Amino acid sequence: MKMRLCRLCLALLGTAMLLVSCQPARDPAPLTMPRNEQGLVSSSTHRKVSQEQAAINAGLLDEDSSTTRQQDVSTGLGEEVRPPGVGESGADAGSELIAKDSDIGGDSEISEITEAPEVDGLQNHKSEFAHYAYDTLRVREAIQNQVALEDGKRIAFLTFDDGIDSYSTPLVLDVLRDMGAPATFFMLGHSFNEDNRPILERMLDEGHALALHSYTHSYKTLYPEGVGDADAVLDDCLSCQEALEEALDGRYSSNVWRYPGGHMTWQNLEAADAALAEIGVHWIDWNALNEDANMNKPTTVEGQVEMVIEGWKRYHGEADTMVVLMHDGGAYQLTRDSLPAIIRKLRELDFSFGILK
Ligand SMILES: [Zn+2]
Repeated sequence: MKMRLCRLCLALLGTAMLLVSCQPARDPAPLTMPRNEQGLVSSSTHRKVSQEQAAINAGLLDEDSSTTRQQDVSTGLGEEVRPPGVGESGADAGSELIAKDSDIGGDSEISEITEAPEVDGLQNHKSEFAHYAYDTLRVREAIQNQVALEDGKRIAFLTFDDGIDSYSTPLVLDVLRDMGAPATFFMLGHSFNEDNRPILERMLDEGHALALHSYTHSYKTLYPEGVGDADAVLDDCLSCQEALEEALDGRYSSNVWRYPGGHMTWQNLEAADAALAEIGVHWIDWNALNEDANMNKPTTVEGQVEMVIEGWKRYHGEADTMVVLMHDGGAYQLTRDSLPAIIRKLRELDFSFGILK
């Protein structure tokens, strides 16, 4: 009851902020991700493909199977959803990540307007890492408008979807720890089981951010016939959020959301976006990816690095803000192998790393 009341308050607060603000409550246009010879597709092409493939996906998606192989229509990619299974938790809350000095300059008008309310006052990261935590709405606008979050500063957000995987997520955390780079993990609610709780604690201890990627990852539930179902999205998001809060004994939460398949993929998400915004949850896609879930995915470390960098150069104007989509499931060995090279390359290009809040 307490949580519901708080959410109501947040919703009212959010509405009040929108009324006061002269900033549009509208949703900015989806990110463009035009197709090149390596498989990126344009937004318009995307939607056409999405419609055709949504029905296929619905058939491919078997929520009862232990390992579900489905087509990720956001990228025309195969995306594997692995329920939590065997493996070591790898809870090794150890070294601190290198903190980048990237104060967000929160006194600017835009940042005040677009600041997402905290979820019941709960953060998705530890406060000691707040200096590199950026508001999701600001980052979304920055990648859509191809602008910097701070003048003259390049900031990259490494993001991993579809965890927690009890075997491979700790391996990704090992790489991030060794490289001193923070990331944001977009996780599935059904993975927040007892065994995986130490992994959540480790993420927090090592300077990462927690984010929501639905409870079920079920395209056919969230987007029947490829069209967003606002009630289903809200229910699923709340289930995921509450599972996260429960797993962390109510100490942390998250209002950062990535639609399974990506916002750019589906039709008529305006109502779902609004429903999420009313409870203080905001979505974000990406403007770079290593295509690790693509059927024509790179097969070498160099290929993954090139995929991230070339897509950003060609289609996003070498934007100073980069959100990189990757996956941390067990099937993504090459992503773990490529991660150090991707991080090194981004540092060569003067990027520091942030997390999404
Ligand atoms: Zn996903």
